[in-house]
Amino acid sequence: MFRISSRFGTFFLGAFLVVAGTCTVPVHGQTNKSPVAPNRERVEAAVREAYDKYRSDTNGKNADYIPYLAQVDSKLFGVAVVTTDNQVYELGDVKYSFSIQSISKVYTLALAMEELGFDKVFQRIGSEPTGRAFNSVLAVVDIPTHTGNPLVNAGAIATTSLIAGKNEDEKWSKILDFYSKVAGEKLVLIDEVYKSEAATNAGNKALAMLLAKYDRIYADPFESVDIYTKQCSVGVNATQLARMGAVLANNGKNPATGEQVIRAEDVPYILSTMAMAGLYDSSGSWAWHVGLPAKSGVGGGIVAIVPGKGAIAVFAPRLDDAGNSVKAQKVIEFVGDKLDYNLFSPQSVGLKK
Ligand code: GLN
Repeated sequence: MFRISSRFGTFFLGAFLVVAGTCTVPVHGQTNKSPVAPNRERVEAAVREAYDKYRSDTNGKNADYIPYLAQVDSKLFGVAVVTTDNQVYELGDVKYSFSIQSISKVYTLALAMEELGFDKVFQRIGSEPTGRAFNSVLAVVDIPTHTGNPLVNAGAIATTSLIAGKNEDEKWSKILDFYSKVAGEKLVLIDEVYKSEAATNAGNKALAMLLAKYDRIYADPFESVDIYTKQCSVGVNATQLARMGAVLANNGKNPATGEQVIRAEDVPYILSTMAMAGLYDSSGSWAWHVGLPAKSGVGGGIVAIVPGKGAIAVFAPRLDDAGNSVKAQKVIEFVGDKLDYNLFSPQSVGLKK
């Protein structure tokens, strides 16, 4: 069934071709009209076409350096779009809660900027793409700032270390509450993911100690790694992730709750950092092919932001060599192309080809 719902009720518009068990495209929660939000039929058609085109793609493989992630069903596949006027489009496994992983880095960055201001965060972390794997030790040694940027592990652990609090619990609750405000609903830690990663995160501890050598971590290194590991283990589903993206598309205001959850002045810094480093050492190729700020996580999620319009989130666990979901990249590229979302293309602001 194709369903349109709003805060005031749910309307069924008749039969909708369902190609997968969970495969409906509900559109709900419309709160206000946005002159720039994409039109429903075009988005729905593009998402459905991409979903059908790539659903049986078996390229890539689950992350396995975190044992829990290796056993996640690699066939899971969900796509969600949330617009700045809070229209929601969903297809596939959009209710499955997966670990947010590196996408959390974006939101801890937003919280650090709120606490310290963007200038201090820039001085303490920086914003240089590393051109190296997300967990690279060599990047910490070679890059003059050592931290690189807030979206690689070293820079992210250092960003987490900026969050103030009396103790570890207070810092962690502050981060989780902030993510929940951005999602517009309470998010929780997936305990098995946390335990699995905490038991195998010697590499991240090594990065934190190396940052300590260069005075580029701002709290106890192991405490910071532990909080960072928790933030990576927060569960989100594709729709929640798309809404977290839509907040950035909507100048920091949650389109569902109307709350200003990220400071509007911070948004361009966050998005430019995502554009440069959101897909690690394949961020250049992503910018070339897709032209949207985005962030991936080894849990299989990617969220891409279309400023002023909305966000698309895709969850599919199989990753490429850089650690980015294969299907998610393909779906977002396909949809972006169909809807002229590429920010570097004049068509994105309405010029004809
Ligand atoms: N928690 C993961 C790690 O630290 C996050 C990495 C990722 O999603 N790319 O390795």
